[in-house]
Amino acid sequence: MGVGAQPTTFGIPGVAKYASFLKELPDSVQVRKKLLSAIERASLYPAGSPERKRLLSFVVVGGGPTGVEFAGELQDYVDEDLHKWMPEIADEVKVTLIEAMPNVLNAFSKKLWSYAHEVFTETNIDLVLNTAVKNVTDTTITAQKKLADGKTETLEIPYGVLVWATGNAPRDLTKSLFKKIPEQNTARRGFCPSIC
Ligand SMILES: Cc1cc2nc3c(=O)[nH]c(=O)nc-3n(C[C@H](O)[C@H](O)[C@H](O)COP(=O)(O)OP(=O)(O)OC[C@H]3O[C@@H](n4cnc5c(N)ncnc54)[C@H](O)[C@@H]3O)c2cc1C
Repeated sequence: MGVGAQPTTFGIPGVAKYASFLKELPDSVQVRKKLLSAIERASLYPAGSPERKRLLSFVVVGGGPTGVEFAGELQDYVDEDLHKWMPEIADEVKVTLIEAMPNVLNAFSKKLWSYAHEVFTETNIDLVLNTAVKNVTDTTITAQKKLADGKTETLEIPYGVLVWATGNAPRDLTKSLFKKIPEQNTARRGFCPSIC
């Protein structure tokens, strides 16, 4: 059996309905369509209008390798391609990466994640750390940011395209097999008979 995994949404309201994922080939086609549609629709609104700003807000949730790589590629596309044919739109695009932990690439060394933070600052990607998404509607992300003094602040982030990259969960077929393997009930990760 080698059925892979599926994106996890943690049951956060609105994610499955409004976000795009980065898992299967059709996901990438959908992301491309949504990006081009948001750019074209934004160009119909006058510069500085709130709707144009919302449409050009591209948000990536999840600061693992997938989210970090995608946010970087997206900013490269804006700077190197979009800028050639729609410079006024490219200048208004805002790429934001939201991460629940204090750093991106938490599974890697400090050297690597601090380099990623530097590159994000240089390339103008907005890094929103210590922030967990709580709800998504068709236009707005609601998130809770942990502040240094231990308090929390609620953020409302309007978006045009939302890409969700918070990791993977077992597929339904795999979950149905879990039930038949008693040892699996205590396993914290995926399908792992006998050795977990
Ligand atoms: C955006 C992204 C970037 C990545 N980058 C890297 C990288 O740079 N380097 C790296 O090493 N890894 C990378 N990975 C991880 C890598 O893709 C996975 O580890 C690898 O694909 C897992 O292989 P798999 O065969 O277990 O599952 P999958 O590749 O998911 O294959 C499982 C297959 O089973 C099929 N299937 C599912 N359910 C059923 C069913 N009931 N009946 C029949 N077929 C079914 C699925 O359609 C799928 O084709 C990346 C993953 C993502 C999402």
